Amino acid sequence: MQQRLDTRPDGGGDLVHRLPRVDDEVAVGVGPGHPQEGRAHPLVELQGLSLHPVTGVEPAQAVLGLQRVAVIDFDVHHGNGTEALFRGDDSVYFVSLHQWPFWPGSGGPGTSDETTLNVPLAAGSGDREYARAFSELVEPGVRAFEPDLLLVSAGFDAHEADPLASMEVTAAGYRELATRCSALAPRIAVVLEGGYNLETLPRLVEAALEGFTAA
Ligand SMILES: [Zn+2]
Repeated sequence: MQQRLDTRPDGGGDLVHRLPRVDDEVAVGVGPGHPQEGRAHPLVELQGLSLHPVTGVEPAQAVLGLQRVAVIDFDVHHGNGTEALFRGDDSVYFVSLHQWPFWPGSGGPGTSDETTLNVPLAAGSGDREYARAFSELVEPGVRAFEPDLLLVSAGFDAHEADPLASMEVTAAGYRELATRCSALAPRIAVVLEGGYNLETLPRLVEAALEGFTAA
């Protein structure tokens, strides 16, 4: 499906742009990181990457006719840019799990609404806390929304060996989160977000891919 989502020349809709297909129902992309309402994550600027918000939502809706799109962002930072894009849009259900309080400071308690689910997690949270958040909040919320498509902002900076944040997710934990995501919608597309330990990142991505492609 991702080749048909490749519709926006400005890079703003390139969640699954230019990227190899994993199979018929999972597309994987590398995105520009943390969009922040028109500004960029400092690390993103450092890397010289695109400043455009990452989303495949518009092409998915316009080209594929997939009207109900859920976005799950498990990057360790709050997905404030994506939240700002779709706040008030009842065709998009946005979920962010993130360390809080932490940069950029948004997404704290009491900031959810009907189609925005912010899940602030305390520093030190690991596989158990993330799995519990999925069971108690994320899965019921997304299932009730009944999305046609799930887009995942897959950041790996909540890993226990990541230098930036203070979370304790393991490779097995990422495999589990990915497996749970893959069960939430008939189609799924994934974009790589944060992850700043370049020694561990490849195996974390590999573990997540195993989960996303699990039958
Ligand atoms: Zn991040």
